Amino acid sequence: MTADERDDGSAVVWSNVVMATDRLPHNPLVERTPAEERLHRKQRLAAAFRIFGRLGFDEGVAGHITARDPEEVDTFWVNPFGMSFKQIRVRDLIRVNHSGEVVEGTWPVNQAAFAIHSQVHAARPDVVAAAHSHSIYGKAFASLHRHLRPLTQDSCIFFEDHGLYDGYGGVANDVEEGKRIAAAVGDTKAAVLVNHGLITVGHTVDEATFWFVTMERTCQAELLAMSAGEPKPIDAGTAREVYQQVGSPIAGWFSAQPMFDWILAEQPDLLED
Ligand SMILES: [Zn+2]
Repeated sequence: MTADERDDGSAVVWSNVVMATDRLPHNPLVERTPAEERLHRKQRLAAAFRIFGRLGFDEGVAGHITARDPEEVDTFWVNPFGMSFKQIRVRDLIRVNHSGEVVEGTWPVNQAAFAIHSQVHAARPDVVAAAHSHSIYGKAFASLHRHLRPLTQDSCIFFEDHGLYDGYGGVANDVEEGKRIAAAVGDTKAAVLVNHGLITVGHTVDEATFWFVTMERTCQAELLAMSAGEPKPIDAGTAREVYQQVGSPIAGWFSAQPMFDWILAEQPDLLED
């Protein structure tokens, strides 16, 4: 049976996504000059921090989202260490090289951000962005030392597509810890970092941001279900089929668009360059 013959409407839904993507202004397939691409990534990154701040994913000075620079690809853009996610503008972002030096911007970099993200970006040349924070449900779930289960349609996004880093070794200030975290992510979209929190990656900032938001909520749903009783998972075959529809990079990018539109309408000052 081909996708077109399926009676669940999935092929129709998927073609609608592609058509809608064509009509959206930040389509990742749009060709941009390197300078345009750099500005675009910085704008999406600043917006991602505002989304994280708005959703309460900030805590103290913890957490970082990074975007690889399109020209100097072994450098990445990241948040200034100690600045609230809720106040970050495009002009505040800093660029860090593979040695951990700030090569653009005046603020320092969080050593843990460098240690983790430099290794993830090095291990995954296909990804543009990575997101990590100490969000409450993510860190609570991470204390269970196990993978997410396919309990809901949305959790199928992570079915057979996330890692588990079960060797928590203290605050990730050295690149060896970053290497182990990158190995746990492997070629997947995310990892549960035990006793710590969540990390997601994406081929766009938008995608990595949506994976993080939905992974946090998936942790919340699983914890809630466990507190209420004995949750029954979706069978593996169905979970794999759902994954094909909701777990791809373009689906992640597309799912992020309403959130980015909303934050840009609500907090347009984030674009100040
Ligand atoms: Zn952390």
